[in-house]
Amino acid sequence: MRMKKVYYDDDVDLNVLKGKKIAVIGFGNQGRAQALNLRDSGMDLIIGNIEDEYAKKAVDEGFKVYPIGEACRRSDVIMMMIPDEVQPEVYELDVKPALHEGKTLVFASGFNVYFGFIKPPANVDTVLVAPKMIGESVRALYVRGMGAPALVAVHNDATGHALKTALAIAKGIGATRAGVIMSSFEEETVTDLFAEQALAYGQLIKLGFETLVESGYDPLVVQLELYGSGELIEISKSILRYGLVGQLSLHSTTSRYGQLSRANYVINENAKVQMRKILQEIRSGRFAEEWLSEKKSGFRNLQRLTEDALQHPLIQIEKISRQTLRINVD
Ligand code: NDP
Repeated sequence: MRMKKVYYDDDVDLNVLKGKKIAVIGFGNQGRAQALNLRDSGMDLIIGNIEDEYAKKAVDEGFKVYPIGEACRRSDVIMMMIPDEVQPEVYELDVKPALHEGKTLVFASGFNVYFGFIKPPANVDTVLVAPKMIGESVRALYVRGMGAPALVAVHNDATGHALKTALAIAKGIGATRAGVIMSSFEEETVTDLFAEQALAYGQLIKLGFETLVESGYDPLVVQLELYGSGELIEISKSILRYGLVGQLSLHSTTSRYGQLSRANYVINENAKVQMRKILQEIRSGRFAEEWLSEKKSGFRNLQRLTEDALQHPLIQIEKISRQTLRINVD
């Protein structure tokens, strides 16, 4: 296997961003985390947001907040930290008019550029710095002197130093402390959407819960066994430390034999056929189109799906479990 290029702190010069103003557009999950990390890394930044709770939070945390268009006009580097499905309209209205040669547009997800919903002009550096981590942990890791790994990619390299800028942003948010892998907008988008959609652990847990409870076992005990005890988190950590097979040595031999001999009863070639279907819908753009029309319809399906999900008996048991047991989630 040919190893991809991986960048660490020592490979990257933060001075590329010296004298440049960065506008973080959006102060939500990623926006807040990345803005705080960049500021702590010595960057000069402002926030672009409409006047509301998020803007208030940014002001409370000591940032200067401007309307999105103005933040874009005032800055050299524009970081798109608003939800993917709202980016195209915000881009057309507020970002595009502020773009000109020498500026850099940074995305945290390849979604809109890869699927062509946003087409940045060729004279503007367009890069991807995609942390493989939820925003809250991007910040928490940074504060602990660590970092969340990220992918970087370049879509437009108008200045000839687009990658250096992307890497400097990656370093500023702490990602090069863990390692930053050279990727592409396509690779990041497809693998990210696939992982979200195909590894639906929640669904597996629900099916496991239904199977045992329908057979007469106590719902609280079943929830505890499936994930409520926090063992699932510890197993995930062990997978990272020792690998998928290596971590099996931490389980009893009974468990090890059971896992290895029965694993493919549920997750087998049939599941792979469905995974290929998911991948095909992502690569063809079908999922992306569906998601943007979902946004246009006011998220009607998302609302219905969420309401349905909340009807599952497991949700009630989760509440009881939280009230009954003192589980450490740190
Ligand atoms: P959030 O949902 O947390 O973004 C919220 C921010 O977006 C707020 O500042 C909000 O301000 C603003 N916003 C929402 N709607 C609008 C709108 N219509 N017009 C203008 N601003 C709006 O986003 P995330 O942080 O989850 O995602 C940001 C980017 O990061 C996306 O590209 C995502 O794919 C990527 N990413 C996210 C990860 C995650 O863990 N969440 C992980 C890696 C990448 P207001 O409501 O005031 O307008």
